[in-house]
Amino acid sequence: MRFFENIAKQIFRDGGIPILEGHVAYSPEEAMSISSDMGFPVVIKAQVLTGGRGKAGGVKFAKNPGEAFKIANKILGMEIKGETVKHLLIEEKADILHEFFVTVSVDRGARRPVIIVSKEGGVEIENLAKTNPEKLIKYYPNPLIEFLPYEAREIARKMDVPSDLISPLGDIIWKLYNVFTTYDCDTAEINPLVLTPNGLIAADAKLVVENDSLFRHQDLVERLRYKQKTVDFVKLDGDIAVIGNGAGLTLTAMDMIKLNGGEPATFLDIGGGASEQIINKALNIVLNYDPVKVVFLNVLGGITKADDVARGVINVLNEVEREVPIVIRLTGTNEEEGHKLLEEAGIPYETSMEKAAKKAVELCNELK
Ligand code: GDP
Ligand code: MN
Repeated sequence: MRFFENIAKQIFRDGGIPILEGHVAYSPEEAMSISSDMGFPVVIKAQVLTGGRGKAGGVKFAKNPGEAFKIANKILGMEIKGETVKHLLIEEKADILHEFFVTVSVDRGARRPVIIVSKEGGVEIENLAKTNPEKLIKYYPNPLIEFLPYEAREIARKMDVPSDLISPLGDIIWKLYNVFTTYDCDTAEINPLVLTPNGLIAADAKLVVENDSLFRHQDLVERLRYKQKTVDFVKLDGDIAVIGNGAGLTLTAMDMIKLNGGEPATFLDIGGGASEQIINKALNIVLNYDPVKVVFLNVLGGITKADDVARGVINVLNEVEREVPIVIRLTGTNEEEGHKLLEEAGIPYETSMEKAAKKAVELCNELK
């Protein structure tokens, strides 16, 4: 799982790596007010799960509020390598004296982690790897024993930098390796790691956590996924809103509705590890979609916790004015707790998807 830059930076910061405190904006108005609070100049950066944003025009500088608005307006909605930009990271613009490259990843051939650094960092790093591979310095730490600060300084020493930079560079390399191991990463990367009049700062951050280890980092995933999470929503022609966790389960729920003679009004996938807030968001989307007569919420908890789902449902039902029946199928992780919460709130639920789908269609037919 790859994390957005703004979230990767928080993790790097928690690991002791200097970053510039930034703020996320979802609209040009927000970008303008955030940057005005921050002070100019600022850098405005597209938040997408891919690199090469700089070259694609997704990283720009603004000197005043008007510029911030214009730039944000231009970058939001832009497509970068097939990904639409939905939010921006706004930071104080760093005064860059030099750009370095530091990455820790897995060398699958060598079956070991590898640290790669270069004195020549920045947006041309891929070209550098092709034209001047000797400028990339590789080091294979022994994954079975502790990686020591002096080893990191040795790597920095090979970068051919002024001697006063060896220690701070080594420190960052060491800390980045620790982030890499702490979070079972595929990649932890800083490109560029910039030298400014105030020292070294991670101007970009890439963090990819191995999917098979996510279970060990639940807190991280829950805390962060919510912030970067969006739901996948497709409008359809029918009148039964279908919400599920995971595309497969959501499609299956749609099939079940169809099998019982109903017509789905939505395909809405809340994804894995959905939080209370995501359930909230999903229900509000479908309840605000006029053709919806009945909601069918089909959750089989895995990383998603049934009690979080129950809380999300209860919150929404307490707030909405529109009377739309909701049929809930809820099983999986923490189901006892989830069921108890729903019972206490007087909200009926099912554990069988077949039964729930049938009920949703019957309710919808009664309303016709
Ligand atoms: P990427 O192209 O997706 O890797 O995005 P980066 O975050 O690496 O930004 C691309 C380039 O923009 C960097 O290599 C820098 O040259 C430049 N850049 C990013 N942030 C700043 C900043 O705060 N100040 C300055 N002067 N340049 C920046
Ligand atoms: Mn970069």
